[in-house]
Amino acid sequence: MQPLIEWQAGTVTEIRPETPQTKSFTLALPKWTAHRPGQHYDVRLTAPDGYQTQRSYSIASAPEQVGELELTVERIPDGEVSPYLHDVLVPGDQLEVRGPIGGYFVWEVGLGGPLLLVAGGSGIVPLMAMLRHRAAQRATLPARLLYSSRVPDGVIYRSELVQLSDRDHALELFFTFTRQAPEGWTGYRRRIDEAMLTEVIRPFEERARVYVCGPTLLVETVANALVRMGLPTELIRTERFGPTGS
Ligand SMILES: Cc1cc2nc3c(=O)[nH]c(=O)nc-3n(C[C@H](O)[C@H](O)[C@H](O)COP(=O)(O)OP(=O)(O)OC[C@H]3O[C@@H](n4cnc5c(N)ncnc54)[C@H](O)[C@@H]3O)c2cc1C
Repeated sequence: MQPLIEWQAGTVTEIRPETPQTKSFTLALPKWTAHRPGQHYDVRLTAPDGYQTQRSYSIASAPEQVGELELTVERIPDGEVSPYLHDVLVPGDQLEVRGPIGGYFVWEVGLGGPLLLVAGGSGIVPLMAMLRHRAAQRATLPARLLYSSRVPDGVIYRSELVQLSDRDHALELFFTFTRQAPEGWTGYRRRIDEAMLTEVIRPFEERARVYVCGPTLLVETVANALVRMGLPTELIRTERFGPTGS
């Protein structure tokens, strides 16, 4: 049986807007433990009348960022927890969290590559932890990121991703825009499909370790396409963020 993971109060040290809908929250944790990239924390809110609710948030930071935890949260307008984090929480506040949690959707340099990361929207968050960890370890194994966003200003971590890949020729980025592409854009402009996956994965043939994260529909479409393409299922890991059918 897994040991019980205790709740602890983290202190919010920084809140950074990433896109119009997402913010990153850095917390200093009194009982910090190194995580495996891809794991998540649970966040618990308690109302003055004692009512409690909790949600899971992937860890965005690399385990090399000792003592701190970074979470990136998309604001769901009619949501219970994400609007509180966006609209109410300020630096200096405390936030109850427990983690790190999860042992399936994880990748670390020791597992090797090549690495194919496929993200939709805020599904980039755990994949960013993997890329930050890969960079911190100065790993040179080939990695490709295919990242689907609706609109150009919805691309989370855009400048950091571009910087990482400018410094490292083994890391290649592929963006696709499903609603509106940047002006003059010559790349993909549609939802991720089998033809796109085939192009992106080609140099890796069937050896890639694949991590897919995002809304349920995107994850299921991508995972089914990868299986049809003949990728070994044991190398494909998926994580779903949104409600069924989204
Ligand atoms: C393992 C795991 C890791 C996660 N990591 C992240 C992360 O890194 N960043 C992040 O932003 N979210 C992440 N999520 C999603 C997160 O846990 C919440 O579900 C999300 O923040 C919505 O919570 P809420 O209380 O604001 O909305 P709720 O009150 O739960 O939902 C309100 C309404 O929004 C709908 N809804 C709920 N979630 C979504 C969604 N993701 N997209 C669209 N509609 C939705 C619901 O069906 C409902 O109609 C993760 C989920 C899991 C399971």
